[in-house]
This record gives sequence, C-alpha cells and structure tokens, in this order.
Amino acid sequence: VALCVGDDGGRILAARRRPTEPSGDPVRDVARLAEDARALVAEAGLTLDAIDGVGVSLPGPLDPKAQRVVNPPNLPGWRDVPVRERLGEAIGRPVFLENDANAAALAEWRFGAGRGFESLVYLTLSTGLGGGIVHGGRLLRGRTWSAGEVGHLPLEWNGEPCACGLRGCAEAYLGGRAWARRLAHVTPRDSRVAALAGGRDAATPVHVVAAAREGDAFALAELDRWNDHLARVIAILAMSLDPEAVILGTIAAAAGEELVLAPVRERVRAHVWPRVADGLAIVPAALGERQPYYAGLCAALAGFGVLDEA
Ligand SMILES: [Zn+2]
Repeated sequence: VALCVGDDGGRILAARRRPTEPSGDPVRDVARLAEDARALVAEAGLTLDAIDGVGVSLPGPLDPKAQRVVNPPNLPGWRDVPVRERLGEAIGRPVFLENDANAAALAEWRFGAGRGFESLVYLTLSTGLGGGIVHGGRLLRGRTWSAGEVGHLPLEWNGEPCACGLRGCAEAYLGGRAWARRLAHVTPRDSRVAALAGGRDAATPVHVVAAAREGDAFALAELDRWNDHLARVIAILAMSLDPEAVILGTIAAAAGEELVLAPVRERVRAHVWPRVADGLAIVPAALGERQPYYAGLCAALAGFGVLDEA
C-alpha cells in the first residue's frame, strides 16, 4: 500500500509505503487505510479540512456505478466491497476509485513519460498486463468501464490459459506471473537463467533480463518471444487508436532500449502503416517507484474532473 498527500501540481507533501497485509476482513482493512491516511495528513502538517478528496488506485475490475471493488485477486475477502462509501465515512472526505492501470496511465500522462501528449496508451507489463488509454485528452472508459483492458486481447485462439478464464489473452504471454510459470517448465536446468534464479522454479523475468544482458542465448530467445507478443499488442493498438505514444511499464522499462524498446519498435513498424508508425513514440514509463503515489493522486484529480482537457 502506497499512500501520499499531494496537490494538483504533482507536489508530494508526505508519502509512506507498507506491505498490504490484508486481514481477510475488508472492514478492518479499510479502517486501517483511513488511520494511515489521517496520520499522513498530520505528517504533512495539514488537517483533514485541507484535503479536497481521496483518490484510490486499486486492482480492477470495479463496479462503475457503485464504485465498489468487484473481486480483486490479491485482496482475499474483498468481494463487492463498497470502498468509496466505507472510506468516505471513515475519513469524511469525498473518495474516488480508479482501477490501477487507468490510474497509472493518468499518472504517466500528467506527471511522467506522457506529458504533452493528447493520446497515449500505457501498458503496465508487471505481474499482469494492464492498460490505460488516454484519447483526445481524456481517459477512455468504455460502456462497461473495460476500455484499456488490453491484457485480454485474444492474441491466439485456444492459446495459453489466462487468469481471467479465457485462453490466449495477451497477459498469458506478457504478464510476469504467466512468464514465470512458463520459465519453470522451459528453462534448461543448467542455464544461466536457472543459475541466477537459484533453480528454474524460481526464475522470473528479472533473471531473463539479467542473463540476456550477458548475452545468454536462451534468455535472448525468451525475450525475443516476449517482444514479439508485445509488438503484436502495440500494432493492434496503433492501428485502432493511432496514438501519439505507447508507454511501457515495469519489465520493458527495466529491460531497456537494446533488449526490448528498439526491437519492439522495429517489429511494430513492420506491421503497421508507415504513417501510423512515423512519429509514434514507444517509450518507457518515467515515474518508476513513485508511480503508485501519482496514481492515487490522479484517481482523485480524475474524480474531480480536473484531468480532462477542455
Ligand atoms: Zn485474459
């Protein structure tokens, strides 16, 4: 859990981070969040009266009308929790929820790698594959608030099973958790990746990137496969949205220019119209470890409607 007190100019006045430690009882979890928030406001030298609102960035899916959490996979016991209502009662300020990928997209747009663009797609590329789309100066939500869920674009019919229940979703190839599951099967036991991980069962994308940096052939082949799926997703987004920028999160940002960004750009260019590829920025996210703070801040700013461009 990352909490901060900030303002609409992106100034962070106080911030703290703690392990999520869900108790299994959402009432207790929300009460603890409210307690943390009060303490942090005091730490910033403010009182709650000075706080306009509270933004919460959390794993989707969210119920759009009621602003409830539907069923977040990493918060056991949190089913249909009316977070907005509960937290609002506990803190006494307006509360706005946003799914974490959308909130991260807003954060990169306003305060990170997306500054100055009117249309962009942000891809989280961490344990899963989340996405957020800013188009025409505002966040695209869609009819059921599922716009931007690019992790579930069907890349292969009857492909790898996805945590969402479908098969062949982009996340089943590009999400860090899915990749680690694959690595446990395909990594040669005597490979550099297995050595770095202390056994192939513990291999993650971090070890693949590290081994690829050393020129390891297996790691480079794994990255090549990953880049290929990523380029397909970006090509689909480029031809459907014609954005100014595609901003890539954790794994791509950590792997960097040579291993991911340059080969992905080249592959996208080969599969979309030149006029769409020309000038399309494919760049790493810029906020790094601070992104969760800005994501929460942007959830509040979006709630007040101050992020949309006139
Ligand atoms: Zn899926």
